[in-house]
Amino acid sequence: MTNFLSDNVTVACPEVIAGVVDANNTPALPYGEDSLSLELSKEFSDVFETEVSVFPAITGTASNALALAALTPSYGSIYCHRFSHINTEECGAPELFTGGAKLIPIPGKNGKITVKDLVPAISGRGDVHHTQPSTVSITQASEAGTIYGVDEIADISETAHAHGLRVHMDGARFANALVRLDVRPAEITWKAGVDILSFGGTKNGCLAAEAIIFFNPKEVKDFHYLHKRSGQLLSKMKFVSAQLKSYLKNGIWLRNARNANEMADRLSKGLSELSGVRLVYPTESNEVFVHLPHPVIEKLNARGVPINTFQFDCLATRFVTAWNTKPQEVDSLIATVETHS
Ligand SMILES: *Cc1c(COP(=O)(O)O)cnc(C)c1O
Repeated sequence: MTNFLSDNVTVACPEVIAGVVDANNTPALPYGEDSLSLELSKEFSDVFETEVSVFPAITGTASNALALAALTPSYGSIYCHRFSHINTEECGAPELFTGGAKLIPIPGKNGKITVKDLVPAISGRGDVHHTQPSTVSITQASEAGTIYGVDEIADISETAHAHGLRVHMDGARFANALVRLDVRPAEITWKAGVDILSFGGTKNGCLAAEAIIFFNPKEVKDFHYLHKRSGQLLSKMKFVSAQLKSYLKNGIWLRNARNANEMADRLSKGLSELSGVRLVYPTESNEVFVHLPHPVIEKLNARGVPINTFQFDCLATRFVTAWNTKPQEVDSLIATVETHS
């Protein structure tokens, strides 16, 4: 039985592995001074159609926490959705890396924040007793598998900037959102006001490769030191850079995300047609959230079918498809759930 627990249970894609094997053929300077690492900013600048500065990282948690530290003083407030990964799954790394900034979780339908929810939460500016409004963090695709449209991002950024805040995007599943929206990477990032992006690679075919992307290189300032002291400046950085390079080359990242999304659509359709099964969130990326009757969850558990349940707006069972999920695997999952429901 294929494992739909998450998109990090599957293997890395062959192109990325080939890139790593290739990087292993020659010695190279350490700590990002190798040619693959030096070229990264250029490659990402091409992808985003503007000059960016890029810092590789090996976990999304480090990438998010570092990005937030670049934008937020130790006495700052970071506004995020209450289900956001930074708020629920990172063991306080954002608080640690910022030196104590405060996360302010806010509600919002379908895992997304809106200007309407954000504005009333922003408070305390100039009050010495209060952390200072600094940063908004949104997740694209969101923790509920939904996607912020171009206008939604632009609205949030415009409001954030008007309140003197800056905008971080957690893009652990950036590629899945991008191909679904069918827009250019620039349109859902800097053109829509995003200041810094945690660009994900691991869940969409890399071994362990993420990147912190500054859309305004002038803002990098002393970030080199934060990057190093958090243990993300790898001595053999070329192996991380090689993954990112192969991931971007020939649109592999887009191909991978398209497959994952298509398989999620197939799964979503199949599951929602079963009686007793209800979709909790619209399927917009590669995550399918359904409400399953309790006996069904118990039967699947007893059969050893790996499932993850989240207490979101209700108890939601999550199935995640990946870059290499096959239609037969999806159909077999649907059939298994049907048998037990
Ligand atoms: C997986 C994930 C991350 C990164 O997690 P790591 O386990 O630290 O690599 C960040 N944000 C979201 C939304 C994720 O799903």
